[in-house]
Amino acid sequence: MIVRFVPGSQEKEKGAVTGVPFTSIRNAAGDVLIMIVLASGVDADCAALAAVLKTEKETEARRKRRQTTHSRRIPHPRVIPHMSAGPRNAFLIGMANVSRSRGGPDFHKEGINNAGRLTAGPMASYDVIVIGSGPAGLTAAIYATRANLKTLVIAGTVAGGQLMITTDVENYPGFPNGILGPELMELWRKQAERFKAAFVDDDATKVDLTHKPLKVWSMDEMNDARTVIVATGANAKWLGLPNEEKLKGKGVSACSTCDGFFFKGLDVAVVGGGDTAMEEALYLSKLCKTVSVIHRRHEFRASKIMQDRLFASQNVKVIWDHVVVDVLGDKKVDGVRIQNVKTGAKQDLKVQGLFIAIGHTPATEIFRGQLDIDPRGYILLRSTEEFRTATNLPGVFAAGDVHDHRYRQAVTAAGFGSMAALDAERWLQKGG
Ligand SMILES: Cc1cc2nc3c(=O)[nH]c(=O)nc-3n(C[C@H](O)[C@H](O)[C@H](O)COP(=O)(O)OP(=O)(O)OC[C@H]3O[C@@H](n4cnc5c(N)ncnc54)[C@H](O)[C@@H]3O)c2cc1C
Repeated sequence: MIVRFVPGSQEKEKGAVTGVPFTSIRNAAGDVLIMIVLASGVDADCAALAAVLKTEKETEARRKRRQTTHSRRIPHPRVIPHMSAGPRNAFLIGMANVSRSRGGPDFHKEGINNAGRLTAGPMASYDVIVIGSGPAGLTAAIYATRANLKTLVIAGTVAGGQLMITTDVENYPGFPNGILGPELMELWRKQAERFKAAFVDDDATKVDLTHKPLKVWSMDEMNDARTVIVATGANAKWLGLPNEEKLKGKGVSACSTCDGFFFKGLDVAVVGGGDTAMEEALYLSKLCKTVSVIHRRHEFRASKIMQDRLFASQNVKVIWDHVVVDVLGDKKVDGVRIQNVKTGAKQDLKVQGLFIAIGHTPATEIFRGQLDIDPRGYILLRSTEEFRTATNLPGVFAAGDVHDHRYRQAVTAAGFGSMAALDAERWLQKGG
């Protein structure tokens, strides 16, 4: 049984000592079973202690009275630092059965026994550590903090994720006039900060997700938590051409669903030969005048069904045995230079858009050996009826492009982020 008392909340104040509010629950005999004192700062610490001592004194007096009449043993109160959501320096005095509740004081399973006594087990500093600060990570942080879970976001060196390198985002709901990618991510982060998520703007460099509490290192500092949400995303592979970098978002793209609309009625090229390239080309063929698929070999490695669909499209042509050696244009793409890999001959192709579809690299290196990962590097979800975003490790959830190679959209990543946070919350509620 846990009572949570938050200043300013609807709960009625049960008492105050030296100005410090506390709430307590007593049994029928009047013994304090649980008491929570919230305080902050040195003065408040002293006052909180006074509140604790006063209650201990009262209980002791009652114990003595009772011992003379009933000779029944009354457990001695325990003071346990409140480690979870809520103001700093909150204390909990437990003398009876204690279990976890939503958003309640946080103590690790091994950190407290059912008599409210401290045991030798570890206590976690956070309820949730979110790794990554793209749409999935920030959404997970918003949901976790709003569920009163103490949350740390290890945001990564490229805080904000993939949308930081794009211009107009026109398909994210709620922005009828579209919004710039970096602007959207700034708003997203502000929303997470508003609910008091803590941030470390660096990469996680090491994890130990196999022992409780779960540990994540960044900047040589170790943080631990009861649950971890992995939202490290995936990076599109690029060709590495000098002009390609300059023209990203100005005709060079890695996402037809995101940017195809901007090329309605225009000529575009797609680079690649796998299923992703087929999908990108097919999607673009419905919007664009012509689609040229440039492939370095004389056959695709895409599935037969995807190839058949592509060959059946009237406005798609395939340029075999060629690689792109330059992207042409100054302020925007106006063509690509391609080279025949067999003859070395070069030619220019007039297109207004270049879609690179040569794959993505999921950011999962640090999880290797701990989380189940597929041959392409994506985290494999081990969904259960109850926990859809579960991984193979208890208390570890994954969200967004780090496991989803199918949809790869900001809105789907955000959806997965909320699911992972709700899963983490339920996991904690169940005593995980
Ligand atoms: C150029 C471009 C344009 C796009 N345009 C659109 C669009 O218009 N609409 C749309 O819906 N989608 C668009 N997308 C796709 C969309 O950006 C992604 O689907 C979405 O960002 C995925 O979100 P995510 O949070 O899963 O991952 P990401 O956005 O990839 O974020 C992952 C985060 O994890 C961090 N990270 C990685 N490794 C670590 C680590 N070790 N420690 C800590 N942090 C780490 C990264 O720095 C990053 O902050 C676009 C993508 C690209 C590349």
